[in-house]
Amino acid sequence: MRQLFVAGNWKMHGDKASIKTLVTGLNAKADSVGNALVAVCPPAIYLDYTKNCLMADNIAMGGQNMAIEPVQGAHTGETSAAMLKDVGCQYVILGHSERRAIYGETDQEIAQKVKTALDSGLTPILCVGETLEERESGQLESVISQQLDAVIAEVGIDQFSGVVIAYEPVWAIGTGKTASAQQAQDVHAFIRGQLAKLNASVAEKVIIQYGGSVKPNNASELFSQPDIDGGLIGGASLNADDFIAICQAAGEQ
Ligand code: PEP
Repeated sequence: MRQLFVAGNWKMHGDKASIKTLVTGLNAKADSVGNALVAVCPPAIYLDYTKNCLMADNIAMGGQNMAIEPVQGAHTGETSAAMLKDVGCQYVILGHSERRAIYGETDQEIAQKVKTALDSGLTPILCVGETLEERESGQLESVISQQLDAVIAEVGIDQFSGVVIAYEPVWAIGTGKTASAQQAQDVHAFIRGQLAKLNASVAEKVIIQYGGSVKPNNASELFSQPDIDGGLIGGASLNADDFIAICQAAGEQ
């Protein structure tokens, strides 16, 4: 039985005052999430501040991106795995569609980052997903397979038990359009099936989150699907009550 995992991707939002308010709200209700795993992923510059505000020991923290270079070096503007760990991160989001589309991150670079994260003791949250155009032109499965295969080639299938996958259809991110529970389940089952062809026990263990306009009113239906193991939450993670309600939905499964 996989534990459900909900992570909040704050993206480039917040300042000290709003983070204080948000985290105070999370601290107050952290006890209500049952046995769901929960993490928040603030902007890099606020990781340390967020850690200091977080009082709930069942809320972990993650970075939103990370350099391929694991420790330090001449990489202006980058954040290393060692730095993320130093300020208290357990997780790092890698390959978010915004990183792929806006910053041109390739499957190969993302695969190298996943390797760095694993080698450094961070759990990568590997985002995969198709655009609307790719879905409508029948390329959904090939796009997802290509994104996964690049990482499998770099780290090997056995290491995937230490990877969280987030299926995020690009057309559902920040748009208010959620994939239906059945649409999401179908892709999650496909992803698990691809992994199972290589290692059935790893496929059974791997947590696959859904991301794309998850809100308190659709979380339960999504999370009740057999292959949906929680969510990666953008917009709704910026509101403590909404985020906690989504975590509660995960805790109730
Ligand atoms: C995301 O950015 O990972 C995301 C899922 O955003 P939203 O929940 O706002 O669609």
